[in-house]
Amino acid sequence: MLEIEGLTRKFGDTIALDAVSLRIAPGEFVGVIGRSGAGKSTLLRLINRLVEPSAGRIVFDGADVTAKRGGALRDWRRQAAMIFQQFALVDQLSVLENVLVGRLALTPRWRTWTLQFKAEDRALAIEALDRLDMAQHALKRADELSGGQQQRVAIARALVQEPRLILADEPVASLDPRSTAAVMGALKRINAEDGLPVLCNLHHIDLARDYCTRIIGVRRGQLVFDGPVEALDDAA
Ligand code: ADP
Ligand code: ADP
Repeated sequence: MLEIEGLTRKFGDTIALDAVSLRIAPGEFVGVIGRSGAGKSTLLRLINRLVEPSAGRIVFDGADVTAKRGGALRDWRRQAAMIFQQFALVDQLSVLENVLVGRLALTPRWRTWTLQFKAEDRALAIEALDRLDMAQHALKRADELSGGQQQRVAIARALVQEPRLILADEPVASLDPRSTAAVMGALKRINAEDGLPVLCNLHHIDLARDYCTRIIGVRRGQLVFDGPVEALDDAA
């Protein structure tokens, strides 16, 4: 269970997120909807602790995420796995190596210096690629792939991080409709099979309707809607 209380972030005079409170249960697939600049990205980055809150608290399964430091913070960042609009793969590395990047935080330092992964890590990476239907591309360079394929590799990388939560920040904003369906379908399948909660920023309400169990509307940093997909249709 993810619990957010009064979460606020200011950038100078801009209140990017304004006292947002919400709870997300295991297995929920939450679409976060709002215009550009509404605060969606700030919300996800606050949860991952890429951005520090000005006020408020984040609690996950009873533990205060906002108080984490050092190793515990690194663990949390790995567990709250981010998916980005621009995939954030390393072009020069193979698909398999890009997925192994997700294991770095779980690998002893001396092994990462020499890039020695255990056979077990490679097996996990291949298994994750297989779930995303990308195992056949494991040895290609990341930049040989289409955008939709790159995003599926990024999801595989998130999976090997042993995530407890998936935070997807506009994961399909730069993809064509076919790739969009493949990526959203993959997130939905992982959500259903693993019971992982997913928070997914979207700016198309139609996508949220098709894939999400719950929709959160954000406007000028404030929560303006929170409910099941059907309630949105009633409100419109
Ligand atoms: P969204 O993801 O909904 O497009 P953001 O969370 O990116 O919105 O931005 C919310 C507001 O906070 C915007 O006004 C944006 O300009 C501002 N903002 C976000 N990040 C920063 C930053 N690092 N520095 C200054 N202002 C920022
Ligand atoms: P370090 O300070 O150990 O070199 P970084 O600052 O690169 O580590 O990253 C800090 C933590 O954030 C690491 O545990 C890493 O796994 C995690 N991290 C980096 N990128 C992502 C991402 N895209 N999604 C989730 N966690 C990430």
